[in-house]
Amino acid sequence: MTSAVEQFFTVKAKIAAAEREAGRQAGAVTLVAVSKTFDANDIRPVIEAGQRIFGENRVQEAQGKWPALKEAFPDIELHLIGPLQSNKAKEAVALFDVVETVDREKIAAELAKEIARQGRSPRLYVQVNTGSEPQKAGIEPREAVAFVTRCRTVHGLAIEGLMCIPPADENPGPHFALLEKLGVEAKVEKLSMGMSGDYETAIAFGATSVRIGSAIFGSR
Ligand SMILES: *Cc1c(COP(=O)(O)O)cnc(C)c1O
Repeated sequence: MTSAVEQFFTVKAKIAAAEREAGRQAGAVTLVAVSKTFDANDIRPVIEAGQRIFGENRVQEAQGKWPALKEAFPDIELHLIGPLQSNKAKEAVALFDVVETVDREKIAAELAKEIARQGRSPRLYVQVNTGSEPQKAGIEPREAVAFVTRCRTVHGLAIEGLMCIPPADENPGPHFALLEKLGVEAKVEKLSMGMSGDYETAIAFGATSVRIGSAIFGSR
């Protein structure tokens, strides 16, 4: 079996090749290594190989493994990429450096409250449900720009990016194009899009970060 460290270097090389192919600047795309379901012993070798940015989709699972890893490696940057319940906003603000899944008024209000209370400000992205899938988190595309504006003006949140997860059974290109267009309209710098199966496509459509789990750590 290929080790996570070998697969990490393969993914890094493929990201670099996709940047070149798309005429993007070298290093324009940030790798977020998605470590959900894997434990500290699986993650540590990838950190030691040089990766510092990781994604987790559950607050509680992340609380179990990341505080110790962050203490050992203080320059770790942890992204929350899964749905955030408002009763977990406190824990999320305390642990995460980027929350990619702001998607409704109540979460925006809770995050603003916790940021003020804790004096700790994770960077924030708004998740857009580009496929309007009923079971999926994210704000509807037609509401996304107004929601970003409300986050800024009503809640005082500095939204710096958009994030999407295209429907599993569709060509992802149009979804990435939609997110890019909404990003321009909402005046955000960052686009978090692309996973193990489609990150090279996402890079061609302007992704500034890709969230890659199974291509590095193996199947879950
Ligand atoms: C699990 C997950 C990923 C990584 O998926 P892979 O297909 O394993 O690369 C990316 N984004 C989100 C939101 C996830 O939950």
